[in-house]
Formats: sequence, C-alpha cells, structure tokens
Amino acid sequence: MSNHPENCFACGDGYYQEVIEDYRLDLPEGETLSVPNLLILRCKKCGEETIPPESSRRIETAVDQHQDTLPAAAVRSFLEQFQIDQTEAAEALGMGGKTLHRWARGTQRVSRSMGYFLRALMAHPVVYEWIRDRRWRRAEQIANHTIAVQLGGFWEASYQVRFPASGGRMSGAQMAATPKPAIRRFNAARGLLTATVQ
Ligand SMILES: [Zn+2]
Repeated sequence: MSNHPENCFACGDGYYQEVIEDYRLDLPEGETLSVPNLLILRCKKCGEETIPPESSRRIETAVDQHQDTLPAAAVRSFLEQFQIDQTEAAEALGMGGKTLHRWARGTQRVSRSMGYFLRALMAHPVVYEWIRDRRWRRAEQIANHTIAVQLGGFWEASYQVRFPASGGRMSGAQMAATPKPAIRRFNAARGLLTATVQ
C-alpha cells in the first residue's frame, strides 16, 4: 500500500491509498459481477473511492466477457451484411438512431439482449426481413381482423390462434394444448405490443 500525492477530490484534505479488493458492481439486468483483486484508491480520511484507468478497463473487460457484449465492429458488419445505413437499420428495428450510431462507433455498449438479437438476425437474415417488413401485421389480420390504431390510445382484441389443419379431429390433449383467446393490447403512444393468453 502506498500513498498517492494528490488530495482527495471529495474532502480535499485526505490522501488516496492504494487498496486491492474484490470489486463488486451491479449490472443493469439486476445481477452482480465481481472483479477479483482490483486496485482502487481510497481516501484515508473520508473513504471516497476512485478507480484508476487501468482498473476501469479491467471492469469494462469483465462486463463484456460476462455479457458477451457485441463489439462495435460486429454492429458495422450487421449494417454491411444487410447493406443498410444506420438510419435504415434504426427504422427497421424500431430503435433510436442515436443509439445505433453510438453502438457502431463503440461509444456505447450494446445491451446484452440486443447483442443476442443482432447476432440472431445475422445468423438468420430472413428474420431481419420479417421484422423490416412488419410481417406480423398480416399474420395478425389473418388471425382476426384489421384493428384501427388510435394514436395515444389503446386497442384490444380477442382472437383465436390458428393452427395448421391437422387432417383429423383433435384429441383431448391437443384441445387442452390449444391456446385460449388472447388479449392483445397496443399502446400507440409508447409503441408497446404485449400479448397475454388468458
Ligand atoms: Zn477524502
């Protein structure tokens, strides 16, 4: 352990001391990640902690490894694969253009779930086309009927989920396995679509 010459940023009086500890941080998904034997600086007087750059990099690397973070280069590969620019991609995926821009530049970490999602789209390009073309709209019209969406409002509809013709009568087990009418609710203001099977 050694003292650092600069004064504490918080109290302005004490000095930082090098401490090596297991560092724990909370991840956005509610998990806790531990980085063992991390060098931190702690003020001897007030307890204020600061993390030196090398330790910050270790934390970043640990988070990336834990979350399988999609690298910025892979985001750019995604754009190249589908021959789209950031604006088109953001529009197709229903997300903010600024966020996609920061992902492609590497100034913002791709969230864990979106990293999985983009990987799936690159592995299965037909899914990207399905999303881009909003093909669920047609499927939902077939499932029931066209539903007018009021901006800022809600719509609800009951519908029966259709199954391929089985070519015979359904057994009791098949009947039991058939979903009951579901309620779909769309909040146009928030852009959320949720479905619950009753
Ligand atoms: Zn201090």
